[in-house]
Parts: sequence; structure tokens; C-alpha cells
Amino acid sequence: MSILVIAEHDQQTLKAATLNTVAAAARIGGDIHVLVAGAGCAAAAAQAATLQGVSKVLVADAAHYEAQTAENLAALVLANAAGRTHILAPATTFGKNLLPRVAALLDVAQISEITAVESADTFVRPIYAGNAMATVQSTDPVKVITVRTTAFDAIAAGNNAPVEAIAAATDTATTQLQGRELTKSERPELGAAKIIVSGGRGLGSGENYHKLLEPLADKLGAALGASRAAVDAGFVPNDYQVGQTGKVVAPQLYLAIGISGAIQHLAGMKDSKVIVAINKDPDAPIFQVADYGLVADLFETVPQLEQSLG
Ligand code: FAD
Repeated sequence: MSILVIAEHDQQTLKAATLNTVAAAARIGGDIHVLVAGAGCAAAAAQAATLQGVSKVLVADAAHYEAQTAENLAALVLANAAGRTHILAPATTFGKNLLPRVAALLDVAQISEITAVESADTFVRPIYAGNAMATVQSTDPVKVITVRTTAFDAIAAGNNAPVEAIAAATDTATTQLQGRELTKSERPELGAAKIIVSGGRGLGSGENYHKLLEPLADKLGAALGASRAAVDAGFVPNDYQVGQTGKVVAPQLYLAIGISGAIQHLAGMKDSKVIVAINKDPDAPIFQVADYGLVADLFETVPQLEQSLG
């Protein structure tokens, strides 16, 4: 078995999703190589070398990997695909952008968002927005796999794998990054947060969302999330969205406030360890997945909850 994990990183550090992806690779077993492609990415490569189970880190350091365009990365992955049995990346925006291209170029079917490894060729993945789990077996010579990061605990550090510089592939120059607008936040990243405070249409306005949920999230050290209805109504930007067409999260604690619990929302948060719901409608479907439910008016209970946290 020869597994290639494509690292997601910001040149300095690996994104948490990479640690979950290496954990999935470890379940498959065999030789795990991590590919770190970037510009000035030595620090990220050094971090990859510390991950347990990694047998080698391959670093391609070149200016045209700075923007991490799928075209250039796919060409590099292909140049390093010979003899590989598995190619893995996280099922994040990064991996979802890159791996379908890699799979198409290798003429194999991608196996998307795996949540478990049954064997080297058999994997479990969600279908119908997570309402059913399919066990799929692949006969392709190389399995191209995106990993649902919430399904695998992050691999720990405690290794000193060799780091090898590899040649960059030719710059395809077909796509150029014109700009990048990043949301800067002091809060934990939604996908990696241990606690998430999430708000829905029940909050009524963006002003109420911020006024009620931010102080609560501050006290809990939580990330902020939202339903699609809250995003569509303009309460918060769409990178807050949790669900089928948003982010899939599985924090230790998920507070759903003024969220009805539509299946498309549940698809993104039902694997949270503890779910707390506040909703004034006792029949709201969110209560079917909640560990603790409070049938109450959020405008009264959220400030009380926040104050009781001291
Ligand atoms: P609502 O369903 O309107 O619920 C608001 C809730 O607030 C109600 O339960 C109400 O009782 C409660 N409430 C109102 N006032 C108060 C109060 N004062 N105190 C307490 N409770 C109160 N949705 C997502 O979230 N994420 C997705 O990724 C997503 N993807 C989708 C993809 C597709 C293809 C489709 C068709 C839909 C998708 N949706 C998604 C939309 C989804 O179907 C729901 O419309 C949406 O989740 C509803 O958001 P909500 O719960 O905030 O709003």
C-alpha cells in the first residue's frame, strides 16, 4: 500500500483537516507520504514530518504553488501518482476543488467524504445528505478519496519522518489568483471548533444575531454558525452556514438557537457530541436530535444563559 495525502496548509501550519486525513490514511495502513506543495512552506512540511504514521514528507516549494490552484496542484499530484494505491485529501473546499480533477485525470471514480475505512478497497460514505450510509468497494487501481474530517480523530504528533524536496511540475498558468477575501476572526474556525453557537431564522435579524449570540459565544470560547435561512436573510455571511450545502461539523457541544432542524441542517451537525436546542415550538424537529431541549423564547433565555455563565 502506498498512500499519498495532500496537505492543506497556510505555508506555516497544517490545517486541522490534514491531521484527520492522515488519521484516515493510517486506518488504511501502509506507507503514508504527505505532499506539501506551497511557496515558503518549509514550516508546514516540518509539522507534517511530526505526524504519527507518516513515513515521508514530499515538499514541492515553488512560487506557482502559493495560490494553491487546483490546476497546478493536480499536475503535481499526477507527477507523483505512479505506484500509488490511494490518494487522499480532506473533504474541505480545498480537497473538493482538487481531487475531482485528479480523479478525472487518472480516469478513476472519486470516493467522496468517507466516514470509515472497512478495508483497503472498501469505505463507508454518506448518501442522501447523510440520511443513509453506503458501503462502497472500489476496483480502481488507485483510490482517490476525500475524507470527512469529523469522522476521524486528528492524528497525534510524535514522529520524525524524513522530508524530501521534489521537483515542481511545470506551471500550467491556466488560472491566476486575482485576489482573496478572507474573513478574519478571533474565534475558533467553525470546522475545528469544540463548541459552536448556531443561530437560525428565529433570531429575526442580523442585529439580534450579533447582539444575542456573540456574548454567549465569547463566554464559551465558541465558534459561530448559522442555518441557511439565517444566511439567506443576510444575518451573517455564508461561511457561517452549517449543513448539507454548508460546513459539516461535529463539535463537543452544538447550541442550535432558533433553528427548526430541517434535514439539510441536521446533515451538517447531527454528529455533534452534545446538542442543545432552544426553540419556542415544542414540535420543532431539532428536538428529535437534541440531547437537551429548551422550549422557550430565545429572546428571554439566551441572555439568561449568557449571564449565568458568569
Ligand atoms: P426556520 O425553519 O424558519 O426555523 C426557525 C425556527 O425558529 C422555528 O423552529 C421557530 O419555532 C423558531 N423560533 C422563532 N422565533 C423564536 C423565538 N423567539 N424563540 C425561540 N425559537 C424561535 N439549511 C441549512 O441550515 N443548511 C444547509 O446547508 C441547507 N442546505 C439546503 C440545501 C437544499 C438543496 C435545500 C432545498 C435546503 C437547504 N437548507 C439548508 C434549508 C433548509 O431546508 C431550511 O430551510 C433551513 O435550515 C431553515 O432554517 P431555520 O431553521 O433557521 O429556519
